[in-house]
Amino acid sequence: MSLCDLNFKNSFVESLPGKEFLPPEEPRPQMTPNVAYSRVSPQPVKNPQLVSWSDAAAELLGLQLGDWTEREAAQIFSGNRICPSMKPYAARYGGHQFGHWAGQLGDGRAITLAEVVNPKGESWEVQLKGAGLTPYSRGADGRAVLRSSLREYVCSEAMFYLGVPTTRALCLVTTGESVVRDMFYDGHPQAEPGAITTRLAPSFVRFGHFQMCAFLSELELLKQTVHYVMDQHFPQFRNPEGKYDYLKWYSHVVESTAQMVVHWLRVGFVHGVMNTDNMSIHGLTIDYGPFGWLDVYDPEWTPNTTDAGQRRYRFAAQPAVAMWNLAQLGEALGPLLGGEAAVHEVLNDYQHSFRQKLLEMMGQKLGFAKGLPPGGIELIEELDRVLRLTEVDTTLFYRKLSELHLQPVKEEDFGHPERWWGVLGEAYYAKSPPEPALEAMGRWLKKYWLQWGVQDESKEDLVGKMNQANPYFIPRNYILQQCIDELEKGETRQLNQVMRALQSPYEENDMTRPFFAKRPEWARQRAGCSDLSCSS
Ligand code: AMP
Ligand code: MG
Repeated sequence: MSLCDLNFKNSFVESLPGKEFLPPEEPRPQMTPNVAYSRVSPQPVKNPQLVSWSDAAAELLGLQLGDWTEREAAQIFSGNRICPSMKPYAARYGGHQFGHWAGQLGDGRAITLAEVVNPKGESWEVQLKGAGLTPYSRGADGRAVLRSSLREYVCSEAMFYLGVPTTRALCLVTTGESVVRDMFYDGHPQAEPGAITTRLAPSFVRFGHFQMCAFLSELELLKQTVHYVMDQHFPQFRNPEGKYDYLKWYSHVVESTAQMVVHWLRVGFVHGVMNTDNMSIHGLTIDYGPFGWLDVYDPEWTPNTTDAGQRRYRFAAQPAVAMWNLAQLGEALGPLLGGEAAVHEVLNDYQHSFRQKLLEMMGQKLGFAKGLPPGGIELIEELDRVLRLTEVDTTLFYRKLSELHLQPVKEEDFGHPERWWGVLGEAYYAKSPPEPALEAMGRWLKKYWLQWGVQDESKEDLVGKMNQANPYFIPRNYILQQCIDELEKGETRQLNQVMRALQSPYEENDMTRPFFAKRPEWARQRAGCSDLSCSS
């Protein structure tokens, strides 16, 4: 079998208006009114090499080992070879960046090859990121560096196994070409290895697709795009007479976005650039850039150095930002949704349902299998305060807490830190944290223990469920940085280990155990580990 024998279709291109695009000699911004996309061809690269391949993502396309050769995969997933039935394009969209309308953005370096219909009849859009210039490149080069490509590739797959709605990543290809980036925007541009990530999703349609039509008052195109997206992906919101229920569909987008953000909070993920052009209409985590994971529990933290002053996209702000973004989507869809009042009503529901979901999720993290007990909200709020008193590792804390349940500790032990420190202490960054922080934790533990203990399931069962809500493995920034450092020297050992570990993120096993550790001290200030620039 050749990869070109996959069952390709091109529904986006065939259903919506677009235009042909010849790349300009020099990159320059181009406005593309009245089209949903521009037809483009990926720009060939010098020496494409397949670095890593996700078998699980390949399965989504109906592909199995042996259906492809490394050489062919490298040619196709670098854009060097286009199969006859592909109609590649770059999509047009706009967006609010950091709260301000930024106008037309679009796929500046992402090129969709086609959609693949798998044997189950599911359709997956196949997109190359870093494949060259498009009309939306806006003065940039259309390329991506290896470090950011690796981060997107690994994290997409990790999020899937963590149970967080996400776009997927099929493979990572190096281009054999270098890309120049000024990583810290401080006037020191450097050549870095280039790469291309192949990503998969039901579609890569963003809030910004609709916003762009609305901004240009292209009502016909707005409607056409909505109908296309609903027909392809949300047929349940069309009644038997064929009428579209726009408001129900919008509510669904609101719900799935809320669900996604609750998952982010559960696993300690900070997206870093929640601009409306980075919000998927499917409620999937999309566009992995300067994202990060909470090592130390700090709800005010954001990994994105560009956002260091304002911290608009900090961990704890994500629910509110999602709501703001949904309001922008609602405004763009306004003419179809029946006006502002209807949008407001849906968003009010969001606030309520978001809180419910959040409390339910926190209940699961704390091991209350049947929901939060009375006083549970206070317990959550107090834990938030206690965890901020000294540096505690978010991931280790919850796993060590579940481990503590299996120890012979009783309520009266929590007044004596030495009786719980042996287990929970491993989550603390300081060897001997300040007394008040330990006392506060002891008080919290005592209250928590009393409420936990009255549940009528066995300890082991409760701990088992708790461990399903609290990851044992997450691809922390420093772990990804180690993969990058190695890969830049041509080694894939750590990357391969991480790709194995991420497949069982809730399990302690030989693959995951080596990664169950606090962020090491060297990573505290190192770029890529604690701070990430948008330069990618
Ligand atoms: P991001 O912050 O990665 O979501 O990107 C914002 C916008 O800039 C999107 O329209 C991207 O396609 C575009 N963009 C980012 N990097 C590049 C690049 N190297 N070349 C062309 N366009 C880019
Ligand atoms: Mg983006």
